[in-house]
Amino acid sequence: MDKDLKNKTLGELEQLVIDLGQKKYQAKYIFSFIHALNAPDISQITPLAKDFRKQLTDNGFYISKLNTVETFNDPDGTVKYLFELPDRCRIETVLLSDDQRKTLCVSTQVGCVMNCVFCATGKLKFRRNLTAAEIVDQVNTVQSKDSKISNVVFMGMGEPMENYDSVIKAVRILNHPQGKNIGIRHLTVSTCGIIPGILKLAQEDIHPRLAISLNAPTNVLRSKLMPINKKYPLEKLLKAVSTYQNTTELRVTFEYILIDGLNDTVLYAQMLARLLRGHKCNINLIEYNPPRVTSDQRRATVFAASDRTAMKRFAAVLENAGIETTIRLKKGQQINAACGQLGADLLNI
Ligand code: SF4
Repeated sequence: MDKDLKNKTLGELEQLVIDLGQKKYQAKYIFSFIHALNAPDISQITPLAKDFRKQLTDNGFYISKLNTVETFNDPDGTVKYLFELPDRCRIETVLLSDDQRKTLCVSTQVGCVMNCVFCATGKLKFRRNLTAAEIVDQVNTVQSKDSKISNVVFMGMGEPMENYDSVIKAVRILNHPQGKNIGIRHLTVSTCGIIPGILKLAQEDIHPRLAISLNAPTNVLRSKLMPINKKYPLEKLLKAVSTYQNTTELRVTFEYILIDGLNDTVLYAQMLARLLRGHKCNINLIEYNPPRVTSDQRRATVFAASDRTAMKRFAAVLENAGIETTIRLKKGQQINAACGQLGADLLNI
């Protein structure tokens, strides 16, 4: 049995408390002390009777905690956290600040098997899925060091749909009013296109925002950039997105990393607009970020970012087609914290 109290939803804690012969309402104290007040251990949950706290400890229950190894600050205000897990695996988390918003980009796996060619994480050896506690604790830890996190995006290291159960549990915990109380529309789960995960998410009773990492409007190009496209090609992926939208009535975000001379031409923009016709969606055009690597890792950086003129030209085609389009310029470039760079610093470990 999992003994980590941080890894449980309020419902699971209620069942646990009842099983231990205690009153169900005590679970609320445990949940809110862990997730709203960041209590580091059971002894700090003072509304519980001392005997009950001892009972929990004697039964092996505990509250897990991420170990912060290092913090990196980019001149543009982006902060990257390097965390170590109990088994010494390491993950990275990025805090992005703009105006009133603090957005935390959390990791869901140690490494990733998806092997997207533009991504440093895909070059790391896959070790394991994170627990819900390890996902949630990235938010708890950063919030305790910085100010309140307003948005959480599941776009860090790993493919969230490949760790579905922990991700949806983390969404429930972060969204719960007794805990962090982050609004469901402020939680975004991103996927490279895992169709079973998209369809499963459609059936849940809560729906975070969904983002699809698309990056190409044709199967030939997308399969080159993202091998998962061979298994879940564009026509099937977009059908799954339609099913998701018909069930949830939510708008979906498509992410498109612009790579110089590869997927950034006007023709590709026109094909993309045609592909997405009929979908309630918006597009984020992301400036490609080559990881800053050592000389023996040069193979990881065969691509370059599109120039700003090409980005604007691409965006104009989409906007003319009536698709809401946002250009996202690089952030955290100096500290390997930008999109596609996470894990670049871990390649040597
Ligand atoms: S882009 Fe996402 S899914 Fe693709 S290799 Fe990187 S972490 Fe994995």
